[in-house]
Amino acid sequence: MSEYQKIILLANQILKNHELCYHCLGRLFSKQLGLSSNKILGQKLKKNFKSSQKCFICKNLFDNLNYFLKMMIDSTSDYSYRTFSVGTTVKPSIVDRDDYIRSHYKLMGVDSVKTDITKELSKSFSKKTKKILDFLDPEIHLIINFKNESCQLHSKSITFSGRYVKTLRGITQKQKSCINCNGRGCRTCLFHGISEFTSIEGIISQYIFKKFGGTTTKFTWIGGEDKSSLVLGPGRPFFVKLHHPNKRTSKLTSIDLDSIKLKNLKIIDKFPQKPIMFNSSIEIKISSKSTLDSQYLKKLKNICNDPVMVYEKSGKRFEKQIFSLSYKKLSLYNFSLFMKVESGLPIRRFIEGGDVSPNISDILNCKCTCEEFDFHDIEV
Ligand SMILES: [Zn+2]
Ligand SMILES: [Zn+2]
Repeated sequence: MSEYQKIILLANQILKNHELCYHCLGRLFSKQLGLSSNKILGQKLKKNFKSSQKCFICKNLFDNLNYFLKMMIDSTSDYSYRTFSVGTTVKPSIVDRDDYIRSHYKLMGVDSVKTDITKELSKSFSKKTKKILDFLDPEIHLIINFKNESCQLHSKSITFSGRYVKTLRGITQKQKSCINCNGRGCRTCLFHGISEFTSIEGIISQYIFKKFGGTTTKFTWIGGEDKSSLVLGPGRPFFVKLHHPNKRTSKLTSIDLDSIKLKNLKIIDKFPQKPIMFNSSIEIKISSKSTLDSQYLKKLKNICNDPVMVYEKSGKRFEKQIFSLSYKKLSLYNFSLFMKVESGLPIRRFIEGGDVSPNISDILNCKCTCEEFDFHDIEV
């Protein structure tokens, strides 16, 4: 007896006891025969049987797939993407009946009903939309829930890198979270997690939301500055991840956004995994309590010879290098300091003295105040 004849016998035996649809019947034997279409095999095996009841396993779910396909197409209408994948949640009773048939008739190496439904939906969706099925790293992932007849969509986040230039004082780097949801995203903030767009973070986010849609943004800054600081020259680098974007491509160039400029904004593959080391060129405006002594000012240059020690309240201490230093006396009580420093040096404490050694106040032998500091370059 050939393999196919054996299969016909078994199929007949199953069909005598259980009504099965073409898909479910064909699926039980298609892998064994190396066939790709369960439906066609099912039709062949069932040609001498009349259907009177619903499929024992799936209750004719396969006849309804167009309804779910339409749901998938509707839910993706606001998204542009190239690749997708599909996941499904099937009623446990269907899975149980499928398991029962497979074990009762000792059918090994057979796709489960859930796998088959998922495959069918993916195939039809790809055919209809011309999008590419990608299991590993899809841009859009759809989860069809057959229990409550819903379709959930997950859009893979995108990551940008860029630099910002800040030419106006009085803008903070970070935006306060929406008070209603604490940043998680709610209806009040349109799921952005922020409801105001007055900071660097807010202004950049608003621009990205406008171009790419999406829900929340997550920033990694390469250093930070005071509200009153300017960031000049090539600007400060940053990375931002946009969650749940609607669009994934757009022309990006340098752009003026009110009080900040965005430079080199581009989409990159990955959010940086490790902290990024950088050096900053800073101009600091300093005032002193007593008149500045030129003899002491001259000593400032020696700071570059050795690392500066920074002591934290936690008991930790670390070293920071100052690569270059120059100054300009502006009046008896004021001077500007120009420095290129290693990232992480606490500027204010370095000027005013506060568990940083050496520090400017100590060297000048008078109490100094850091009035403001601006960034001229940030090198990564
Ligand atoms: Zn079925
Ligand atoms: Zn909110």
